[in-house]
Amino acid sequence: MILVLLGPPGSGKGTQAKRLLTERGWPQLSTGDMLRSAIQNGSELGRQAKGFMDQGALVPDSLVIGLIEEKSKSAECAGGFVLDGFPRNVAQAEELDRMLGRLGKQVESVISFEIGDEVLLSRLSGRRTCQKCSAMYHVDTMKPKAAGICDKCGSAVVQRDDDRPEVIAKRLKVFHEQTAPVAKFYEGQRKLKRLDATLAPDAVTAKINGILGI
Ligand code: AMP
Repeated sequence: MILVLLGPPGSGKGTQAKRLLTERGWPQLSTGDMLRSAIQNGSELGRQAKGFMDQGALVPDSLVIGLIEEKSKSAECAGGFVLDGFPRNVAQAEELDRMLGRLGKQVESVISFEIGDEVLLSRLSGRRTCQKCSAMYHVDTMKPKAAGICDKCGSAVVQRDDDRPEVIAKRLKVFHEQTAPVAKFYEGQRKLKRLDATLAPDAVTAKINGILGI
């Protein structure tokens, strides 16, 4: 299964991708996670990406396309994978089709997480993320058991630089201008299904399972 999870930041794509990994063993390819780990490792890619990310802008297509190309060819992804945060614009979606076409593969299903900006603002400004394993928490609705410490791996739980209110507004603007048209692209291919992403995580998981017939 090659599945694309499409939606604005904070819509729950990462949470659901992690569940698909745990419950089905489908690898999660999150370009945001890959870029953040490149920054933590101090690599050249991380150095190039950081300025864009801190401002809530998209990083240049060439940087993320290279990451996805390398991963999608790996043995681990031979049986399929879940794309979380990629493609982020129509050019990336077109390049993904070409890249998969060269491997004799294609995107099978695209799920669009539908949710309004107001809910996203409160979700994202209260969001906290494990620096190491990227597990997600929320200051009001999902606190870690020990303050500031990840339940899963014991590392520090922090606010991502781009989850600060001034950057969130920019990220939502970028979503509406550049990523929302990707839904139309996949609608044209008859691959798009929409779900109500304001629902609780378990209900969203149930909807995904229903859409995929799993
Ligand atoms: P995310 O964790 O998916 O919200 O991504 C965090 C940031 O990483 C985004 O705001 C972008 O700066 C960058 N990023 C992640 N995925 C992409 C992508 N597919 N194309 C361009 N930039 C991306």
